[in-house]
Amino acid sequence: MNVVFEALNWASSFLKEAGRDENAGELLLRHHLKMERATLLSNLRLVLSKEQQQAFRSDVIKHAEGIPVQYLIGHEEFYGRRFKVNQEVLIPRPETEELVEGVLQRAAQYFQGNEKLQVVDVGTGSGAIAITLALENPRFLVRAIDIAEESLQIAEQNAKELGADVEWLHGDLLEPISTHRLNKFDILVSNPPYIPDWEIETLSPVVKDHEPMRALAGGEDGLDFYRRLIQDMQDLLNTPAMVAFEIGAGQGEDVKELMLKTYPPAKVEIVHDINGKDRMVFALIGDSSS
Ligand code: GLN
Repeated sequence: MNVVFEALNWASSFLKEAGRDENAGELLLRHHLKMERATLLSNLRLVLSKEQQQAFRSDVIKHAEGIPVQYLIGHEEFYGRRFKVNQEVLIPRPETEELVEGVLQRAAQYFQGNEKLQVVDVGTGSGAIAITLALENPRFLVRAIDIAEESLQIAEQNAKELGADVEWLHGDLLEPISTHRLNKFDILVSNPPYIPDWEIETLSPVVKDHEPMRALAGGEDGLDFYRRLIQDMQDLLNTPAMVAFEIGAGQGEDVKELMLKTYPPAKVEIVHDINGKDRMVFALIGDSSS
């Protein structure tokens, strides 16, 4: 395993054997050699130092044992930017990029003009949603809440590195906004934990044993956080307000119903992800034109 191509071949057969993604070896090797993909692939005969070989081998073994590659290399791409991650935060998913895209598009449609918009991201984790929204739309004044101080630390580092201006608040769901009587919001976005109890056991061990359970488990039917958020936001919404939730496959109708029970005139859309699964619910509440 002296040279790049041997290291890559070894990793891909080792990982395949372990039932993991064979391409993870390339990400790990790039990390240890600090190389972009094109550079690595045009240096297939580059000789690795002993230290590089050892560090790479040890990470390939850790990934084979189930540790997500993103925790080993310490970052993940989201919406074209690099976010730091560690075991305290959920690794940002491509499905969540679709949620962000949906918010950006609908915001432009629902809130015409150029006045600032109060945005809140509940359960921000790595800060991927909040930071991306703040960077993509200069009208957004973004606040983000998380119950875990450890997540907020990572999120703040990400904001600093990416040059995003976000106000970070520590607390349970919307509690910091009510307690400090902060501004009401125009847009609420959240990717809360939504995996129902029965489904936890079926998750891949790479997810279940390594990503934070507090970011995944949504109670018996997976809907606990939607119920609480929908209740708690009642006094905190401007008129009109947009709510954007990431949801689990098959939860669309249930979340729509919860929303309509509390806000009967809301306009609620269930939106599929690129895999054709229910993945987002968008609601427009208090729109006089609807
Ligand atoms: N999409 C994540 C998963 O399937 C779950 C994220 C969440 O619960 N918010 O692992």
